[in-house]
Amino acid sequence: MTDLQRNREELLAEIGQAATLAGRKPEDIKLMAVSKTHPFSAIQELYGCGQLVFGENRVQEVEQKFPSLRPSLMQVHLIGHLQTNKAKKALELFDGIDSVDSLKLAQKLEALAEKPVSILLELRTAPEETKSGFENETELFRALDVLSTFSNVRVKGLMTIGPLHGNEKEIREAFSLLRETAERAKVRFSHLDFSTLSMGMSSDFRLAIAEGSTQIRVGSRLFGKREA
Ligand SMILES: *Cc1c(COP(=O)(O)O)cnc(C)c1O
Repeated sequence: MTDLQRNREELLAEIGQAATLAGRKPEDIKLMAVSKTHPFSAIQELYGCGQLVFGENRVQEVEQKFPSLRPSLMQVHLIGHLQTNKAKKALELFDGIDSVDSLKLAQKLEALAEKPVSILLELRTAPEETKSGFENETELFRALDVLSTFSNVRVKGLMTIGPLHGNEKEIREAFSLLRETAERAKVRFSHLDFSTLSMGMSSDFRLAIAEGSTQIRVGSRLFGKREA
């Protein structure tokens, strides 16, 4: 077993512990390996031991780093801000756009998509600390009113980045805000899917699991520190 594979095994065990502590089933929490800045060889190494879902934050990096024909079960999702002028490229490269942060971007994706595309809507739950995402629930719901009529863009849930320098209480509040927002969205937009809650990174995934995360996005805890 390589270091990378061992890191993943340890992480899966910790996810299992955090789930059990929260009274949840470990298999209800998916691990996304955030591979930004790391080479394709590292991605292949993890794929070889069963890691299927990867997260990347830049369109250009994915275009350069991944072979045009990927292993059949590998899924790569975008988790960084997407400029509308790169939306077409993003639709070609990604299996899902997990960081849709404006109605304008969602409309662009709907206009360009030639087949169904899964998206998550990003909410700014820690406005002091993070830049991207819908500002608040009102803005998010206003976008959902329009998104409800879309045919290719398929909402799968919500995503957030917790406060990077917050204390435990602040971090939990951000995550619980995402969960509560999804619960209200389910009631109001009952024909849409809000089952995915993408929250939690290397430093705060345990808190995210305690607050109901269904997908954690882990980079440095798996691959080691990033250079940039
Ligand atoms: C980089 C990144 C992560 C992973 O961060 P780590 O602290 O390395 O685990 C998760 N989500 C987003 C949106 C990121 O940009």
